[in-house]
Amino acid sequence: MTQLDEKLEPIMAEVFRRNAAEPEFHQAVREVLESLGRVIAKRPDYADDALIERICEPERQIIFRVPWTDDKGQVRINRGFRVQFNSALGPYKGGIRFHPSVNVGIIKFLGFEQTFKNALTGLPIGGGKGGSDFDPKGRSDAEIMRFCQSFMTELSRHLGEYTDVPAGDIGVGGREIGYMFGQYKRLTNRYEAGVLTGKGLSYGGSRARKEATGYGNTYFVDSMLATKGTSFDGKRVVVSGSGNVAIYTMEKVMSLGGRIVACSDSNGYIVDENGIDLDLVKEIKEVRRERISEYARLRGTGSHYIAGGSIWDVPCDVAMPSATQNELTGKDAKALVQNGVIAVGEGANMPSTPDAIRIFQEAGVMFAPGKAANAGGVATSALEMQQNASRDSWTFEQTEARLETIMRNIHDTCAATADEYGAPGDYVLGANIAGFVRVAEAMRALGVI
Ligand code: NDP
Repeated sequence: MTQLDEKLEPIMAEVFRRNAAEPEFHQAVREVLESLGRVIAKRPDYADDALIERICEPERQIIFRVPWTDDKGQVRINRGFRVQFNSALGPYKGGIRFHPSVNVGIIKFLGFEQTFKNALTGLPIGGGKGGSDFDPKGRSDAEIMRFCQSFMTELSRHLGEYTDVPAGDIGVGGREIGYMFGQYKRLTNRYEAGVLTGKGLSYGGSRARKEATGYGNTYFVDSMLATKGTSFDGKRVVVSGSGNVAIYTMEKVMSLGGRIVACSDSNGYIVDENGIDLDLVKEIKEVRRERISEYARLRGTGSHYIAGGSIWDVPCDVAMPSATQNELTGKDAKALVQNGVIAVGEGANMPSTPDAIRIFQEAGVMFAPGKAANAGGVATSALEMQQNASRDSWTFEQTEARLETIMRNIHDTCAATADEYGAPGDYVLGANIAGFVRVAEAMRALGVI
């Protein structure tokens, strides 16, 4: 762990005290504060008026009961959350996660990260995040719909296209957004298309939104590789997860000439030395909604499935963790470095532990932190809001071109900021400082809020 600046140490202590038993939130705040020592050395005024303390405290935290009835007629209860973290730059914006591990600390860490990520896009969006400890695995379509409707019945009071605009995240894809949008429309009697993003194309969604996070991470890593005169062409790539982010990361990497040799779900991973058959993964995950183990059974020779274990033991040139937080540990990072990894691009939010990041950076591995590298999803959500506001709909090519420009700009901003603050090549520092400065400037202009 890097020592914190003496002005930042008490801020971290207060975050611990106020948010006890929320280790992921502590981890996310600490990582940003570790970068801010260099900022306040140059600009001590950024520490005035408790500005940093205010940035670490969410504007609003909502926790609510979500009652619903399962297919057997039994009433069930889950807990819903929405953390509206910071609205200095625009309406709160950030996804909704349905996963049994969700609690207020997880949502807070995600909302905090989201605030800086959204700032990095350069678009007018604040930061927020939401979710529930509901487990969608094994639930019927009708159960998912009833749950989404109940969740939205409460959440709708807190949303609005100028207030708070959720999107998907783990366990929340196009189907769930559709059910939630339908319920919002019914409750409010308004066709307020810009209140949710990640919508289907038939009712106000944006082309390229589904692909955006994975494509965006690939563009970011491609820009990073280009700084060393190389590219994805001919590289072995491992992508963890097999959900939205993972699938479209694989698609773009393959189109740039990379070979995907492994992907996973929470039960295990598959290795296919001939290159993963992405159509088969899409069929298993997006259509049949089955486990990734099915891949080896259906694909046959040349591929195999490993239950449990670590996907990071598979040798690769580029690693793209795209499943969940803290999925890549110090031990995994050591294995990757030993096997010759040259670049890591985080598709998921905070997938690498602090130890893992240190190991990558000490070994000279190019490392793209999630808050910069996975910003393509939220950036394209903001483009969806633009299309909704102007009653317009852009082509796939037009939308993807905007996404690519945004991602390459984020890369260049992070790299230039790292240079300016005396840490060339440190994208973690560059992303944290560039995101912080944009939020801090707006907050100062708005007075003590
Ligand atoms: P999905 O639900 O579509 O996919 C998640 C994938 O990760 C699944 O393969 C899932 O496996 C796996 N996974 C989830 N939890 C765990 C776990 N505890 N251990 C191991 N594997 C796990 O989610 P997304 O693809 O949308 O999100 C993936 C990551 O990307 C998250 O960190 C999310 O916050 C981040 N992200 C997503 C964005 C988006 O636009 N969707 C935008 C920016 C970041 P299983 O099916 O077995 O659960």
